Amino acid sequence: MSKNMKGRSRFLSALPLLAVLVLAGLLFFPAADGDVTVYVTNTGTRYHLENCSSLRRSKTAVTLEAAVRSGYEPCGICRPPELSASSSAARSSAGEGELYRVNKAEFSSSSLAVLSRMVKADVTGHVDGDTVRVRIDRPFAGLKVVETIRMIGVDTPETVHPSRPVERFGKEASDYTKSRLLGKTVYLAFDWDFRDRYGRLLAYIYLDAPEGPRCFNAALIQEGYAHAYTRFAFQFMDEFRALEEDARREKRGLWRSGP
Ligand SMILES: [Zn+2]
Repeated sequence: MSKNMKGRSRFLSALPLLAVLVLAGLLFFPAADGDVTVYVTNTGTRYHLENCSSLRRSKTAVTLEAAVRSGYEPCGICRPPELSASSSAARSSAGEGELYRVNKAEFSSSSLAVLSRMVKADVTGHVDGDTVRVRIDRPFAGLKVVETIRMIGVDTPETVHPSRPVERFGKEASDYTKSRLLGKTVYLAFDWDFRDRYGRLLAYIYLDAPEGPRCFNAALIQEGYAHAYTRFAFQFMDEFRALEEDARREKRGLWRSGP
């Protein structure tokens, strides 16, 4: 065996050890910004979250860093993560025409709200406790003039299901929403998911009250008209859970004892 061959075989025998070290590195030092997975399409110019509605035709997983390096912009609908400001490739997408999203660290509570940055809408129809129809005069960023809103993070007892009976307290919850929202001007804020599988807009509904902005989704739970709906993650999940606990403890609405 020549000297050269010996060197190569020593290198080859060290390969498994190298592989183990690389794997360990991946396991113990995960997820810098650039390692986040986002999705692009064959023809698009934007990158997306996996569940974005504009990914119906094609979808290719890439790292966030690769997407930005290739010139893709963040989608305005699903609002995927952006590279941190320290990255030279990072671009700010803040500014006019952006939807007001609460899935950011600054919004630690539903009561922290800036109505002037939200989408203004008029409630034109009432469906049930957690669903209303609105008219948006100046729709943008994927919104339509007429939208059905499913309120995020709440679930009121069923009243309009075609095959199920009206659930206990369903009528009260439905009437409460109708009396508080129908005909009113409201302000819409959004979270990670923009629409549900029925195409309804998923939103937090805010009212402009003398004492400050009021999140109607939170009020529904607080007053005992709704459960906190935690099947899908949302920004105020912990807060809404606590509001439900409180309503149960105080036996408000749904949680009143008796039939
Ligand atoms: Zn998208």
